[in-house]
Amino acid sequence: MKEISKLYLKAGKEKSIQHFHPWIFSGAVQHEAPGIEEGELVEVYSSGKEFLGTGTYHKGSIKVRILSFKKTECGPVFWEEKLTNAFELRKHLGLSGKSDTTMFRLVHGEGDGLPGLIIDIYNDCAVIQAHTRGIENFIPEICEALKKISGLAIQTVYHKFTDSVNKETETSGRFLYGSTVETVSLENGIKFYINWEEGQKTGFFLDQRENRKLLGSYAPGKKVLNTFSYSGGFSMYACKSGASIVHSVDSSLKAANWAGKNAELNSFNNHEFFTSDVFDHFGSSEEQYDIIILDPPAFAKHLSAAERAAKGYRNLNTEGFRRVKKGGMLFTFSCSQVIDKLLFRKIVFQAAAQSRRKVRILHQLSQGPDHPVNIYHPEGEYLKGIVLYVE
Ligand code: SAH
Repeated sequence: MKEISKLYLKAGKEKSIQHFHPWIFSGAVQHEAPGIEEGELVEVYSSGKEFLGTGTYHKGSIKVRILSFKKTECGPVFWEEKLTNAFELRKHLGLSGKSDTTMFRLVHGEGDGLPGLIIDIYNDCAVIQAHTRGIENFIPEICEALKKISGLAIQTVYHKFTDSVNKETETSGRFLYGSTVETVSLENGIKFYINWEEGQKTGFFLDQRENRKLLGSYAPGKKVLNTFSYSGGFSMYACKSGASIVHSVDSSLKAANWAGKNAELNSFNNHEFFTSDVFDHFGSSEEQYDIIILDPPAFAKHLSAAERAAKGYRNLNTEGFRRVKKGGMLFTFSCSQVIDKLLFRKIVFQAAAQSRRKVRILHQLSQGPDHPVNIYHPEGEYLKGIVLYVE
């Protein structure tokens, strides 16, 4: 077996990795073995030649993503241990073996010590996403390890391609085991149609589970607008809790189809879908609502786009505030990593001021606990939500 290539840091640059931060930036590297390939496993050493960790090598500003702070070849035993650990946490969260919730995130990248790897579970199906070439190289081992977790009883493993690694591929992914493309999964007793081949991400936005539940608790008897609704995650909770009417808006035809299917699966007849751009929808109607949800896709993927994104969020939230009835509520979210919690709050503050509404913060939300944040990697806290009471 080829020896693992070594990479040495500049003096004083070992601190963050000693604090278990999983990224090594290119500026911290003093010397690397020549010819290391994209995605290859490397060992990282301090300038004093002390071993620091094993990780995957990448061209770009994040040079190494640490998979272990020990020496390892990341073989089958390594993956079994890592996935078993991740599953233990989900069991601790009460997410396994539940009769009313049969989908959850099993592996959340850095939050589970596995930068670049996402695994979502829908009933007995696992959907894997590799956000780095390094993780993609280990997909066969990951798939085998998944099949061995007895509590999961996995029957299908699908590798859903990502833009970051599989840019030139025509298909959306490939089956590693089994061949199921769709299922109906439960979240807090609500049925959702999930299709990982055609759906966004792995098929569903699992990170909003707790926030959808909170929304449901406020929705009885209310007129609700759910913008950027996708398959109607928030909408179905509002419908179930007895909202008088729920309007979902999304520009995707597939989202329209799935939201309709979900309403049907649950026999809800208080739901209506509008296939439209959200800004156009706001432009075409002055209708007001008791509760409005704003959950747009990431407006900024890179720091360079943060300013423009901030403007987008400000305009969207201003529209949102304008459409909330007196004594109503706004559930507003941002999943852009580069817009941090404080900046997002400032943007929402500006939107409230611009719309001249008196607004109070009731809840501050984040992603669900099956999307844990490694305390040494605060960048992992990507989902921010604020629930506001509007007078
Ligand atoms: N809240 C959803 C997830 C939202 S994902 C849930 O809980 O499941 C973001 C959604 O916004 C996607 O479905 C995408 O199709 C939609 N979208 C993106 N830009 C849009 C736009 N300008 N107008 C309407 N929908 C848009």
